[in-house]
Amino acid sequence: MLFSELPIDSRVLKALSIMQIETLTEVQHKSIPHALIGKDVVAGAKTGSGKTLAFLVPAVNRLLTSRPLTKADPRAIILAPTRELAKQVFMQAKKLTATQNISVALIVGGENYNDQVKILRQNPDIIVGTAGRIADHINGKSFFLNGIELLILDEADRMLELGFSEQLDLIHRSANHRKRQTMMFSATIDSAAVHAMTEKMLNAPEQIVIDNVA
Ligand code: ADP
Ligand code: MG
Repeated sequence: MLFSELPIDSRVLKALSIMQIETLTEVQHKSIPHALIGKDVVAGAKTGSGKTLAFLVPAVNRLLTSRPLTKADPRAIILAPTRELAKQVFMQAKKLTATQNISVALIVGGENYNDQVKILRQNPDIIVGTAGRIADHINGKSFFLNGIELLILDEADRMLELGFSEQLDLIHRSANHRKRQTMMFSATIDSAAVHAMTEKMLNAPEQIVIDNVA
């Protein structure tokens, strides 16, 4: 299946074409159509299978096509287990939004907290980061979460292994808009801890498992 066959905004297609991305990978094929109609998604697929665009394409499409829930607050949070992985997601998000008026901020540990407060005060549409530092900013009231309509957990299994479950829970409870769409992507989704998090944070999710998960 081609991205051009999906019911997505032409600006997203344009960005994908600049990225030279045309054909959906298997995890993208199985998850994007569900995510595009607003369903929660939990997907397990091995490293390198294209999970980043599987959540970024429907997320950016929703931001382009839905009316913001609040006037000028962040609309999406994407969490990754490490600074490096968050940065990789951030760079793909920048590319995918290059054709649009959507702002993306990278908020990870190890960077100056007050500089991040200034960035968050400008209300980026999408916040990509690590759970620990984003939880710090929620506690510090650096930004409002009333407008968060997308919560995405990338490499959820690793975030739990790294001990982020309390921070993830805080983010989940704080981003409490009833129209929130939540997606969870992971190499493995069959551990008890991932299952418990899915039960708690996702609403009747579409479950996708691709063979040969790590
Ligand atoms: P994962 O998160 O599953 O490990 P990534 O999302 O990082 O995988 O994707 C791995 C690589 O595949 C990246 O370089 C990405 O740009 C590329 N890629 C993703 N989707 C496609 C696609 N549909 N067509 C071609 N390349 C793709
Ligand atoms: Mg990934």
